[in-house]
Amino acid sequence: MSDHARIPPSYLKTALACAMAVIWNETVEDRSGRAAMIGTVLHDEFERVALGGDPSLTPNAVIELDVLDCGQARAQTLLDRAIVALRALEERYQIGERWHEVRVDPGAAIGRSDFWGTSDYIGISGDGSTLVVGDAKFGKIKIDPRLNEQLLAYASGALRFIDQGVAVGIETIAIAIIQPTAPGIGLVVWETDRQMVADFLEHCRERLALTDLDEPPVEPSATACQWCKGRYECPSRAI
Ligand code: SF4
Repeated sequence: MSDHARIPPSYLKTALACAMAVIWNETVEDRSGRAAMIGTVLHDEFERVALGGDPSLTPNAVIELDVLDCGQARAQTLLDRAIVALRALEERYQIGERWHEVRVDPGAAIGRSDFWGTSDYIGISGDGSTLVVGDAKFGKIKIDPRLNEQLLAYASGALRFIDQGVAVGIETIAIAIIQPTAPGIGLVVWETDRQMVADFLEHCRERLALTDLDEPPVEPSATACQWCKGRYECPSRAI
């Protein structure tokens, strides 16, 4: 099995908006920019500390960030803030059981083997009524958890990942964005329910089927093209 999904949840918003973007994602070389590379380093550090590691940046992380021209003090502040936000999230829902960096498979519910990914955080409230799905973001563009395609996909995968005896008691789905660059404590949560997740999956089923066509439709829009992997090559791009 490939290490990479054809349609990862992180690319889902783009894939749903324009099926052709999935074809570009398969064919164009990844061009991660400096901000994305900094985010990857901080993301790894966040996971390490969240799992009980030393709260200080590791020497390797400091070197990697220095190469990317990201100051140690700034990076440490972002890491500290992200951990504070995570603890606030866990306190809010009195988390009883948690997982970090787990593979979830939303595609399995709609018959797709190419739609899966890794969720930063999955938690279940102590009373068993709430599934919490969290994602850490280190970029400057503020991310909204409401109707967030990536996290709804993780939530649908998480509902399959957790023990099914526990899953039947879940009533609320809490979608959380941990973003230490944002104002306040850098935590925004949107609560929804299982029906929303089920409806969203049906939407995915219909739209992602377009990516299987011999000639997938090209549907330019600001939403689709902003993060499309093929935006530098595609002659139809909107922006
Ligand atoms: S650049 Fe825009 S129109 Fe072209 S494939 Fe990507 S999302 Fe679709």
